[in-house]
Amino acid sequence: MAATTVYKEPAPRVDAENPLESMMSRFNVATEILGLDDETYNVLKAPDKQIIVHIPVTMDNGKVRVFEGYRVVHNTILGPSKGGIRYDKNVHLDEVKALAAWMTWKCAVVDIPYGGAKGGIICDPTTMSAGEIERLTRGYTLAMKDVFGPDRDIPAPDMGTGPREMAWLMDEFSKTVGATSPAVVTGKPLVMGGSLGRTEATGRGVMVSALAAMKKLGMDPKQTSAAVQGFGNVGSWAAKLLSEQGVKIKCISDVSGAYWNENGINIDEAVAYKNVHKGRLDGYTGATLMDNADDLLTSEVDLLVPAAVEDVITEHNAHDIKAKLIVEGANGPTAASADPIINEKGIMVVPDILANSGGVTVSYFEWVQNRQGFKWSEDMVTERADRIMNEAFEKVYATSQKYNIPMRIAAYVVAIDKVAQTYKFRGGF
Ligand code: GLU
Repeated sequence: MAATTVYKEPAPRVDAENPLESMMSRFNVATEILGLDDETYNVLKAPDKQIIVHIPVTMDNGKVRVFEGYRVVHNTILGPSKGGIRYDKNVHLDEVKALAAWMTWKCAVVDIPYGGAKGGIICDPTTMSAGEIERLTRGYTLAMKDVFGPDRDIPAPDMGTGPREMAWLMDEFSKTVGATSPAVVTGKPLVMGGSLGRTEATGRGVMVSALAAMKKLGMDPKQTSAAVQGFGNVGSWAAKLLSEQGVKIKCISDVSGAYWNENGINIDEAVAYKNVHKGRLDGYTGATLMDNADDLLTSEVDLLVPAAVEDVITEHNAHDIKAKLIVEGANGPTAASADPIINEKGIMVVPDILANSGGVTVSYFEWVQNRQGFKWSEDMVTERADRIMNEAFEKVYATSQKYNIPMRIAAYVVAIDKVAQTYKFRGGF
């Protein structure tokens, strides 16, 4: 149950460009291209609702600690809202608002019947025991019991969460409604209604959209080198699947640093190393540790895949990027101030709301399977997800050609147009 602490609006982030502002500046450009009327603009601009909760958790030392959690529902015009839950010490309400809006645009770009939402809890899961994380997750679920629901708002994993947390969430929600309710959350373990192909789905979508972009640019995957920032779920799968296509992954990184190997890193080996070293690459010897991890972004590679956090490509380093193609595995890795520099340099960007939408697409398949009570084969999941990714890529590419605009703005144009048209038919909700 949420505690009654009085909430104070956090000060805006000063360390980095505010992701909400980055999102809004692209939104504004796209709505102008579309000539969106004021009414629809105002409806789409602000989140539908923001819920702030304070969750008391008994820690292992017997003391109660109160955690602050958020759920922002940006929009439900296309359907129930969808989006992950982030556990991180840097979670910030403005960030969650931006991430929720990106979910709306992401679902619209791939044409799945969902609105957008995002959740977050300010916590450091790396310093918490499994029991503490379980109590936190169950407390958050209880606090959000009237927000979540298979037809209302469907959470999923994001940074710091995974199948384990989704299982607790599903169990706690099911208890509150008195019936097993698998479709309330996606990204569950396979044995309890998860979908085959969900774990690798985001990384796979990054690979599929990177291949589609390489084709347009006349790049041969076998002659392409890449750097992948972030070696969590998205980055490691993207690196593995790209390397299976012949791309030479020269650089990978995680919180422990960036690792370079001119001859290409053996990704299976790096993943195996990480799996037995608490999920980190510290001490990995298959590549050389770089002096400065940020140099990954400006290294001599053809393809750059930022798959870690927001705002890593900025006006300060964009000038030095050597890659011809950027495929955004993370949400919001490029600050809006870097866009003009990247465009000026003629770098193609497959933007986050397109490139990383493979995750939510297979989440949608999971939800459909839960509602059908019927499990799909892995081939069926992969074939359908790849088709959706390729169709979305072609639609965004055609829009960028039609208006002579970068792929990022084209993706917003496609998404906003879909939501705005639906709003016109539906009327307000
Ligand atoms: N957290 C993921 C994202 O940012 C997945 C969301 C989902 O599957 O609902 O796209």
